[in-house]
Amino acid sequence: MPLNVYQPLFIIFTGYNKYFTLKFTDFGFDERLMEGIDASGYEDATPVQEQVIPLIMAGKDVIASAQTGTGKTAAFLLPLINKIITDTHEDHTNNALVIVPTRELAIQIAQHMEGLSYFTSVSSIAVYGGGDGNAFVQEKKALSHGADVVICTPGKMMAHIKMGYVKLSGLKYLILDEADRMLDMGFYDDIMFIIDHLPKKRQNLLFSATMPFKIREMARKILHHPEEVNISISKPNEKISQWAFIVYDTQKIPLVKYLLGKTEFKSVLIFCSSKLNVKQLTRDLKRAKFLADEIHSDLEQDKREEVLMRFKSGRLPILVATDILSRGIDIDNIDLVINYDVPHDGEDYVHRIGRTARAEADGTAYTFVSVKEQRKFLGIEKLLGKPVPKAQVPAELGETPLYNTASSNNHPGNKKFKKPRRFYNKSKK
Ligand code: AMP
Repeated sequence: MPLNVYQPLFIIFTGYNKYFTLKFTDFGFDERLMEGIDASGYEDATPVQEQVIPLIMAGKDVIASAQTGTGKTAAFLLPLINKIITDTHEDHTNNALVIVPTRELAIQIAQHMEGLSYFTSVSSIAVYGGGDGNAFVQEKKALSHGADVVICTPGKMMAHIKMGYVKLSGLKYLILDEADRMLDMGFYDDIMFIIDHLPKKRQNLLFSATMPFKIREMARKILHHPEEVNISISKPNEKISQWAFIVYDTQKIPLVKYLLGKTEFKSVLIFCSSKLNVKQLTRDLKRAKFLADEIHSDLEQDKREEVLMRFKSGRLPILVATDILSRGIDIDNIDLVINYDVPHDGEDYVHRIGRTARAEADGTAYTFVSVKEQRKFLGIEKLLGKPVPKAQVPAELGETPLYNTASSNNHPGNKKFKKPRRFYNKSKK
C-alpha cells in the first residue's frame, strides 16, 4: 500500500480523540446547576471550558488567553456558581467580583449568570456606569446588603468602594475578564485600587484575548502561582469564499441537491455532525444520481481507505463525512466544503472549511444553519470577528427562518424563564 494512503488515516485517528469531548456531567456539578446548563442548551464543554473548569474547581489561580466566542464566560461562571452553592461562606457579603471593561459586557455576563444560576439561590448584581441616580441607589443597597456575584466596570465599582459601604471582607473570588481591553481603556489604576480593598486570600482568574507584556506584569502582581491556559484560534484562509444559508432542518437535503445540481464542482466534501445524517444524506444523493459516498466510524477501515482513495484520486466527486475528516487530512483539490450541520465550535469550523482553498486554489464553504443551530453559529461568528455573509435560499425551497442575531444566553425554550432584570438577579434572603 503506498504511504499516502496510510498517512491521512493515521492523522484521522489521532484527530478523532478530540471528539470524545467532556460532557458537563463529567465536572461533578451540583444538580441545580446542571438544570441551568441543560436549560441553556449546552451539551458538550468547549475547549476552554474543558481546560479551565477543572483548574477553578481545584482552587487554582488561572490565567487564560481566550477570545469572546470560545465559551469563556461559562468557563468561569459555572465553577464559580458551583463553589458558591457548595462551599461554606459568609452570608450577606459580596463573594465574587467579576471586573469587566464595558457596561455591555457587564449586562451580557449578568444575563448569562441568570440563565445558568436560574435553579439555584445564587444572587448577582451588575454595577456599571452611565445609569441614573436611581440606579446608583439600587446598586448601593445591593452592595451594602451583599450579592453572591458582583459584575462591575472598574470606575463605577471604585466610586462605590470610596463611599465606604461595600462589604468586601468575605470576598473569595476575583475574576478579571477581557483584561487586555481594560488596560487599553486605561483602567489599570482603578483595578489596582479595587484589588487593594480585597482580602489577600482569594482565588484569582484572569481572562484576556491577547497576552502582551503589560498583562503578564499585572498578572504577576495579582495572581498566585497561576496555571496557564491558552486557547488561540486560527483564522480561516482569506481565499475561502464563505456563505451561510439560514434554513429549516427539512430544507437541508433539498438545498444540497440544488447547490450540487446548479454549479459543477469537481470535488465536494460535506460534513455532518452525526453518522445518521451522513447516511441519510448519502442515500438521498445516490437516489438523485449524484456520485456520492460516505465515510464515518461505522465503516471498516478497508472500506474507509477505499472511499478516501477514490475521493483523493478524483473518481468520487462527492464525499459525505463526519468530523473524523475535519483535521489533518491533506487533499488539495477540494473546491467546495458544505457544513451540513453547524460545527461544534469555532475551531472546528476553521478546520472544516480549511479543507478547501488549499495550496494555490480558491474555495467555497457553505454552512447550513437550522433554527436550533443559530446560537451556536452566532458564537462562531463572534469568534471569527465578523459575520459570515448570508446567501439567499432559492425561492422554490419555500420560506426560510429569520436569523435571530439577538439570540443570547437566555433559554427561550424554557417557559419558566423570566426576562433578566436590570440590576438584581435574585433577592438574597
Ligand atoms: P462567550 O465566549 O462566553 O462569549 O460565549 C459565546 C457563546 O457560546 C455564548 O452565546 C454562550 O451562550 C455559548 N456557549 C458557551 N458555552 C457553550 C457550550 N458549552 N455549548 C454551547 N454553547 C455555549
